[in-house]
Amino acid sequence: MTVIHRSGLPLKELSPTNDPWDPLQSLRQYGKHTLTSVEMTVTNLCNMRCEHCAVGDSLVMREPDMIPLPLMLKRLDEVENLKTISITGGEPTFRKKTVEETIIPLLRYARERGVRSQINSNLTLDIGRYEPMLPYLDVMHISFNYTSPDDFHEVGFANSGHPVPREAAVRMYDTMMENARKLSDAGMFISAESMINYRTHRKLPEIHRLIREMGCQRHEVHPMYAADFAASLPVLSLDDFRAAIHDLLDHRDPQLWMLFGTLPFFSCNPDKADRDLVARLRNEPNVTVRNDPDGRNRVNVNMFTGDVFVTDFAAIPAFGNIHEHKLDDIFGEWSNNHPLNQQVNCHCDAAACCGPNLLVADMYYKGTDFKSRRAIL
Ligand code: SF4
Repeated sequence: MTVIHRSGLPLKELSPTNDPWDPLQSLRQYGKHTLTSVEMTVTNLCNMRCEHCAVGDSLVMREPDMIPLPLMLKRLDEVENLKTISITGGEPTFRKKTVEETIIPLLRYARERGVRSQINSNLTLDIGRYEPMLPYLDVMHISFNYTSPDDFHEVGFANSGHPVPREAAVRMYDTMMENARKLSDAGMFISAESMINYRTHRKLPEIHRLIREMGCQRHEVHPMYAADFAASLPVLSLDDFRAAIHDLLDHRDPQLWMLFGTLPFFSCNPDKADRDLVARLRNEPNVTVRNDPDGRNRVNVNMFTGDVFVTDFAAIPAFGNIHEHKLDDIFGEWSNNHPLNQQVNCHCDAAACCGPNLLVADMYYKGTDFKSRRAIL
């Protein structure tokens, strides 16, 4: 569907050559990192407790009232160069009220302004929670790390604290598959994300095949990092990550757009195997590598407190609040003055790279000064 920007011009379709979530796009357009993307956490409730959940420690059983929606909309409206919004949780659709009173108004705002939108969901609830988004939503982002309902049962409820019957998990798995097919048929763009971790790294081609069967239009792949619920899980070596990505590229469906993100491989790495992989990813048709938006062109707003973070998993404390400040001002403060940002904000344009994610730098490149490195092309 053609979406018209406020300026009256049509927006470019989302495609392997146009990913407005990539901070490189805004860096090239404005000549410096610029706030173009706002993510909003609209719930900390969820019907699952996944083993790898990046916000697992924030999940709750009850939650307080949200900040007033008009304040959030005002703060979005003030972001001068806004291009995308993302809605996340928990499971954002856990309560019907959140869908009706928060999600749909935010999506409608995005559509009317002409900015792209994404929601992160597990897609396991009744399809009626998702259908109202059809006229407004650009990307339905789901997690998919399974080769069978048994995988889903094991992974999806690992942190429940009580046994979840297999039959209940199988029902949810079937609902997710059916929702994906039906919503996709109705025109929703579904992007399924898989993590590369100790469970999935040898099964990615099979996971990819199922994602294709579900009718998804994109397969996203990110390495799992040891944060939050995943902090105690076994960590893969860089060799394992590299082998898993080659295996997936060897067996993928070349018609399906594949988006890789938060990779721990860079064109400036001394190891030739890393640079060869980066080059392969760059040259494969329908494959893109997104630079990490967190803190580069995106901030996250907690819609219960108004606190602003650079990541949705809050490993770094909040550095502002929308009750007091505009988002552009908060971002400017982070971007110009925060010592953490100064460590990783390198940029090699010819390699289409603007530096590592903070977690990646911390886990695999402790002590590396990326700002003194250059891409070897
Ligand atoms: S931008 Fe940074 S991480 Fe990327 S290739 Fe250049 S120096 Fe390496």
